[in-house]
Amino acid sequence: MDLTALNMCSYGLYILTSKKGDKVNGQIVNTVFQVTAEPPTIAVSVNKLNLTHEYISESKVFTASILSTEAPMTLIGKWGFKSGRDTDKFEGTDYKLGKTGAPIILDSTVAYLEAQVVNTTDVGTHTIFIGKIVDCGVIRDGEPMTYAYYHKVKKGKTPERAATYVKDESDKKEAKELKKYTCSVCGYVYDPANGDPDNGVKPGTAFESLPDEWVCPVCGATKDQFSPED
Ligand code: FE
Repeated sequence: MDLTALNMCSYGLYILTSKKGDKVNGQIVNTVFQVTAEPPTIAVSVNKLNLTHEYISESKVFTASILSTEAPMTLIGKWGFKSGRDTDKFEGTDYKLGKTGAPIILDSTVAYLEAQVVNTTDVGTHTIFIGKIVDCGVIRDGEPMTYAYYHKVKKGKTPERAATYVKDESDKKEAKELKKYTCSVCGYVYDPANGDPDNGVKPGTAFESLPDEWVCPVCGATKDQFSPED
């Protein structure tokens, strides 16, 4: 059995939100899909350990805001690698409350689907929530982010990315000899050939030369939580 076959499945990337009383929370998921057209119904699989799972279980409502390819890594890091138990993910994020009271994320999203839970299935580590759509809409023009796009382009592993950000070949050659460093928290790879242009780090900057206050652009881990790649 070759489990890498599972990597060939296609997914989108969503911020899944819910509420509990007057509190709100959300997280990134890649597991939203439509299950029927009439009535329009979607399903989402959520890890039982997550705070959003607790909120959906209690309020029976959720909203999936569909991320755009323009979404910055910092947004994905905040919503995907941090817990609402430790940080207020909504601080600095533009959102509005939907019909059900579950938030709709307006930053870096192209559309939203708001649903009322009509059924749940226990699948061990996760629960599948099945929700009838009560409201949905398009927020702006743009390409929805796919999971593959997130891995290939947003993590800077494609040549296109390097071609965009590496200004000349001599920089590129030197940078190739510099070591890549991996974040132990989220798996982000700092590649000196790309630098971290979103945060003002030029291509060709060695990991050792990054300022002490530099943090992982995805999850916010500090430099000491990185280790060199072999
Ligand atoms: Fe990280």
